[in-house]
Amino acid sequence: MGFYVTTPIFYVNDVPHIGHAYNIVAADALARWHRMRGEDTWMLTGTDEHGQKILRTATANDSTPEDWTDRLVESAWKPNLEVLNVANDDFIRTTEPRHRDGVQKFLQRLYDSGYIYYGEFEAEYCVGCEEYKTSTDLVPGQGEYEGQQVCSIHSRPTETVKEANYFFKLSEFQDRLLELYDSRPEYVQPASVRNELRSFIAAGLNDLSISRSTFDWGIKVPWDEKHVVYVWFDALLNYITAIGYGEDDESFERRWPGNHIVGKDIARFHAVIWPAMQMAAGIEISERVYGHGWLLVGGEKMSKSKATGISPEQITDVFGVDAFRFYFLSAIHFGSDGSFSWEDLDSRYHSELANGIGNLASRVIAMINKYFDGQIPQNAAEPALAELFAGATDRANAAIDEFQIHDAVAEAFSIVDRLNGYITETTPWVLAKDEAQRDRLAEVLATNIRGIGTAAVLLAPIMPESAQKLWQGIGGEGDIADQRIQDASSWVGSDRVGELPPLFPRIEQS
Ligand SMILES: [Zn+2]
Repeated sequence: MGFYVTTPIFYVNDVPHIGHAYNIVAADALARWHRMRGEDTWMLTGTDEHGQKILRTATANDSTPEDWTDRLVESAWKPNLEVLNVANDDFIRTTEPRHRDGVQKFLQRLYDSGYIYYGEFEAEYCVGCEEYKTSTDLVPGQGEYEGQQVCSIHSRPTETVKEANYFFKLSEFQDRLLELYDSRPEYVQPASVRNELRSFIAAGLNDLSISRSTFDWGIKVPWDEKHVVYVWFDALLNYITAIGYGEDDESFERRWPGNHIVGKDIARFHAVIWPAMQMAAGIEISERVYGHGWLLVGGEKMSKSKATGISPEQITDVFGVDAFRFYFLSAIHFGSDGSFSWEDLDSRYHSELANGIGNLASRVIAMINKYFDGQIPQNAAEPALAELFAGATDRANAAIDEFQIHDAVAEAFSIVDRLNGYITETTPWVLAKDEAQRDRLAEVLATNIRGIGTAAVLLAPIMPESAQKLWQGIGGEGDIADQRIQDASSWVGSDRVGELPPLFPRIEQS
């Protein structure tokens, strides 16, 4: 079994905000989960560096596009992965030769098979989106743009582009795309995104302009070097150029097809244009396109331009990286929009992390130290709880198959909540006073250790550092990431509890 997961490649025009970070940690959590199943897993992320918007931004900053993109990749995008503790297997930049060569091979293949032609056209183009707009994509402008039609995402007027360009015969793929959607309902998820895109395809597709000749910051069209490849056409191909398309067949066969985790606003590129490109080139269609929701701040979509942008460090500096990952992957139903607020983050941090799992683990470890001299009782878990641990493991694993990360986290926390209740009900400190209850005390604490072990393994893809600390605290050996996640409930514990470093220290409001 293999699992290949990708984030979009990020447009280096911007620095990372928590909207990007949300996408990246979701893909990373999925990759870590599949790795812990023992699957042949590969996670790709990277940067999208061509196009008119980058060229204009570089020029506006007295820079060349080469220097500008190098600087942003090295100073912002790569460090962002460290900040988020992302274990990506590869990072691709669209300015790399391996990408350029693959794009040119792919394009030549489409040209040779007759899917590309030369033609004239006039259309509205949003440089912010790097996308051609139809009238349904535009809305009436406000303020300084009153009386004009503007991009519904950027609230700025589009530019009328009139050029002779190369076109991809996207319109020819309408029937095959509908057939793909109908025969593989899981291909695009969630259902809301799938339904919207199916209607879009059913309404008819226009051929797509895939080259530009008015600027040169891009990959040259191999048979006509006056043209550069349209930035989205270039960008989508990163998913295959990074794994050896046209260069290393063995690597390509091993990884492809991939699972694309994207914001719903770019699902159209990934689940309409991209599969048509794949059909035209005769490569397998992607496994899945998952269009997650937007992060809303104060009711608005997160964006730098709308001043709602929050950098990941603003959160990780205060709460730590694991709280960041936990919060976004559990508080937001993956696939729906979610609102971010500092109050909600702070409240979940204290209730679910500090008082929930952190407090549970430190109490249980302290009791084993106190009543059993640190020796973990080797009793079996109480049957009703053992059943819960096994059931939660199976349900969490099944949720991940459906990309329902929040449900998987909730299953792990159902164990934590149950154990906190179980301690209140069984009152081990009372049992400890009665020598005749020694066996019962041992059973209660052994049940707790096994449950914490199960939760720690299930949470390892979500909160890698904290799960490792928990693991050491309950006497687990080695790297928790080496555990098999499907066996999370069968861990029987070791001999002795270890040291538990502070997991989620209280954060004083400043
Ligand atoms: Zn736009």
